Amino acid sequence: MIEIASQVSLQSHNSLALPSRAEYFCSVTDELQIVEALDYARANNLQVTALGGGSNLVLAGDIAGLVIYLDLNGISRQEPQDRQENQGNTVHVEFAAGENWHKAVEYCLQQGWYGLENLSLIPGNMGAAPIQNIGAYGVELCDLFVSLRAIDIARGQPVMMDKQACEFGYRDSIFKGKFQNQYLITQVTLALSLQPRVNLEYPALAEALAAVDQPTPQMVSAAVCAIRSAKLPDPAQIPNAGSFFKNPVVGPQMLEQLLAANPQMPFYSLGSSGAKIPAAWLIDQCGFKGLRDGNVGVHQHQALVLVNLGGTGTELLALANRIQSEVLERFSIALEIEPRIYGQPD
Ligand code: FAD
Ligand code: NAP
Repeated sequence: MIEIASQVSLQSHNSLALPSRAEYFCSVTDELQIVEALDYARANNLQVTALGGGSNLVLAGDIAGLVIYLDLNGISRQEPQDRQENQGNTVHVEFAAGENWHKAVEYCLQQGWYGLENLSLIPGNMGAAPIQNIGAYGVELCDLFVSLRAIDIARGQPVMMDKQACEFGYRDSIFKGKFQNQYLITQVTLALSLQPRVNLEYPALAEALAAVDQPTPQMVSAAVCAIRSAKLPDPAQIPNAGSFFKNPVVGPQMLEQLLAANPQMPFYSLGSSGAKIPAAWLIDQCGFKGLRDGNVGVHQHQALVLVNLGGTGTELLALANRIQSEVLERFSIALEIEPRIYGQPD
């Protein structure tokens, strides 16, 4: 039997530590409890919001309806169904939605299941990883993704979705579009390698391991952790939600115009479809890096990270809007906010 509480503070449930209350809140540890929570929401006409580690949210005010914290645990190895595809080199691993992402990465490394190293130290839980197809240091979740299991919020029924059904994109999936707020993900299955292959495509990582002859996956994970810890503020010390804006992608013509006006602008070519521009550079050029605006600000070492210094979601979004306006005016680029915004401002 689940316990449903009312007017629950979410301040310790979001990495920006923004003040917000859930009208109703419950924590669930299995699918039966999810169905029970959904029955309650349906009977009381409550909107449902899924909550994981709270590291990709902006809580702009209180949250109406029922917030369900997905606390399902367990990691298990599956026999791959398609043996030909794997030839003994791959293992399929099922992760319950409430597993902490980084602990799962560490566990897999200990088991000799490789592929997640570049994604070390990303905050949050397994169930949220497909939502924005998490990525870092040259690897994205979709590179390893096999399938997920989810409960349909409207019907309370389980469904399975394969990679194609999830429509993964750059920090994007169908769960940020057509299927937004429609499913509670309960389990994710990934295909991991039994061979210790490493991916050092990302320059910062290659540089960190340049002196090592044959880097192991463990070394890659340690290097990623070291780079991240040196560059990114720890939310436990300085509340933040990681990158606040997505890196914009511009077409070839726009890239040409931007480079004519800003020859020093960094960019990463995407071939004929244009290029990705680091949003941090654009924000820095507008003079926001290290800026403090009342109780919120822009991190002094990473312009893409907005920090909460005791403010509210309303204050943080006002700063975000200021940054978006300035970047739009100066570069004609509309920055898109990455974390999901919930709640009504005061
Ligand atoms: P939450 O913030 O709880 O939720 C995020 C969204 O997913 C919400 O819309 C929520 O409703 C939904 N959701 C959560 N769980 C479920 C579920 N089980 N079923 C359905 N919907 C669900 N992201 C990257 O991609 N790469 C990075 O390198 C990276 N680095 C970060 C560094 C820092 C310091 C921080 C604070 C964040 C970073 N992030 C990064 C963003 C964040 O960690 C990821 O997006 C992560 O997957 C969010 O997980 P979460 O459990 O905290 O999700
Ligand atoms: P960085 O190394 O300073 O690089 C800045 C940006 O340039 C990155 O966002 C990255 O895009 C892009 N980039 C760098 N080298 C690239 C290459 N060879 N090819 C294509 N794109 C390249 O970035 P950082 O801020 O320290 O972050 C390091 C990694 O962690 C990045 O992958 C970043 O996405 C990830 N990260 C994500 C979050 C989040 O909340 N989403 C927070 C912190 C870190 P990509 O973002 O596409 O990789």
